[in-house]
Amino acid sequence: MNEKPIMNGVNGNGRLNGKLNGNHHSHNSFTEQIVEMGDMHTATSLETPLRNDAFDLSDSDKIAIIEEKFREILTTLGMDLTDDSLRGTPHRVAKMYVREIFYGLNPANKPKISVFDNKFKYDEMLVEKEIQVQSFCEHHFLPIVGRAHVGYVSNGVVIGLSKINRIVDYFARRPQVQERLTVQIANELKRALNTDDIAVVIDAKHMCVSCRGIQDDHSSTVTAEYSGKFNDRATREEFLKYIRL
Ligand SMILES: [Zn+2]
Repeated sequence: MNEKPIMNGVNGNGRLNGKLNGNHHSHNSFTEQIVEMGDMHTATSLETPLRNDAFDLSDSDKIAIIEEKFREILTTLGMDLTDDSLRGTPHRVAKMYVREIFYGLNPANKPKISVFDNKFKYDEMLVEKEIQVQSFCEHHFLPIVGRAHVGYVSNGVVIGLSKINRIVDYFARRPQVQERLTVQIANELKRALNTDDIAVVIDAKHMCVSCRGIQDDHSSTVTAEYSGKFNDRATREEFLKYIRL
């Protein structure tokens, strides 16, 4: 799928731009085309699409703005925000967006990775499997929940195992596309470990597939990124044997 429809059709604020010339019919079909791309979970780039001014606002400013907008959403849906049960919801959701489920948008929150010399000269494959993935589909803002499996062959340095979990979590906590998440984790591990010998496999369920649309709650999606030695068939098979997919 080429990326032109989105890149040309939507400006930095996510609004449709003037190319549609106000024609209602083409506006509709263009919007539908964009919706359809999202339903197919088509990503346009490996980088998370962020604006240049993404972090000009402080977290507390963002929380205040999102709280107001979410109150509008609830009100539009017809909810009575004076009800005690709902009163705190806009603030709760806003805080959760900024500080928890989307904290990984902000590079300031990127985990500090320290590496150690590989003192034991362990030069076999190291596999960490069943790493928890909790992310959100950027097309529907519904959860993606699953497991990541990571393998690498040390190039002289190793990292603490929990750091791999932190890297996975950091990239997961943004509006995501599973393919992009897989590659972002692999690229960060390559950088941190100074090696190309990396494998990342993610097996995850998408709530947007189970709760809406086709409503299939059994299927899961597997994505993989292999580089360096993991492009060798034997090495890749050894890795897959360990994670038993
Ligand atoms: Zn989705």
